[in-house]
Amino acid sequence: MKTVLSTVAFAIIVSTVAAQGQFNAAAFPPVNEVPPITSNEVKEWLKGLNFADVPTFPVHTGNPPQCPAITQIPPNQCWWTCQTCPADDIEVCPKPGDWGLTFDDGPTPQTTPLLQTLKANNVKATFFVMGSNVVRNAEILKQEVADGHHIASHTWSHHPLTTLSNEQIVAEIKWTEKAVMDITGLQMKTSDAYDSKDFNLNAAGTTEAQIGTALTKLATTLNTYAANPGTKGIITLQHDLYNVTIDFAKRLFPAIAQAKLKPLTIAQCLNDATPYQNSPSVAPPSTGSKGPNVKPNSTSALSVSSSVMMAALALLGTALATL
Ligand SMILES: [Zn+2]
Repeated sequence: MKTVLSTVAFAIIVSTVAAQGQFNAAAFPPVNEVPPITSNEVKEWLKGLNFADVPTFPVHTGNPPQCPAITQIPPNQCWWTCQTCPADDIEVCPKPGDWGLTFDDGPTPQTTPLLQTLKANNVKATFFVMGSNVVRNAEILKQEVADGHHIASHTWSHHPLTTLSNEQIVAEIKWTEKAVMDITGLQMKTSDAYDSKDFNLNAAGTTEAQIGTALTKLATTLNTYAANPGTKGIITLQHDLYNVTIDFAKRLFPAIAQAKLKPLTIAQCLNDATPYQNSPSVAPPSTGSKGPNVKPNSTSALSVSSSVMMAALALLGTALATL
């Protein structure tokens, strides 16, 4: 799902200063492609970095790249997807019973009905947005902010970062940051990066029965956790990409209520009063959240009626990287 090979580079990016500009979609690179590193914008961003502080790690191939034998990964490297090594990533909410609710890959037209459902249930979430979708759905991004959700980065083109050079990673992060900044005035500081395990259900051959099985498994997992939450909360990942995943997300709320979990944004569950680099007053933590406004329901409510054959399974223990 993510990797931290370039954590140092991310940390350095934080020190650069962005300014809100007027949004012009035509000024951004082609969507769904790794942005070129020869543009004036990327050259300028790279100038602000000291690559002497950035380790040089091998660039892998494949989409997603396959994990090598663990013994072949040098001890100075952390490849979360392969090793689940925590490094300095956020993997859980610190407080038992708290549920960090996150959505990847949007905004898309499918995000709009999801926002309506979240509002109806008095639930706030973190949206990890793709730059390529942000520039095509600027109004939906604005609605996410207006509704009080937390916006974070999910790269520009959704390429696994372990297959990109440090310069390309900078371009992926900074173009996405600029898009959100130009549209909302917010400078993101949290990111999760696609590497693999992003989808547990296959786009090409997922059946409705498999989706139903996944939903039931999730509900069971949540209830098992809620019965004995131990010392920490959880974070899950969903996708606001396809109708069926929105349907999936809607069916999370009865599961939340049944499990008596408290859904929060990542910023809220971390009690982070400054969820953005430049605007600490935006989307402050809501420690007094009332939680979902839904009634407990049986797991039968988790059956999927949509015939669309792509869905994402929420993954417990999602790792997030704070920039
Ligand atoms: Zn993704």
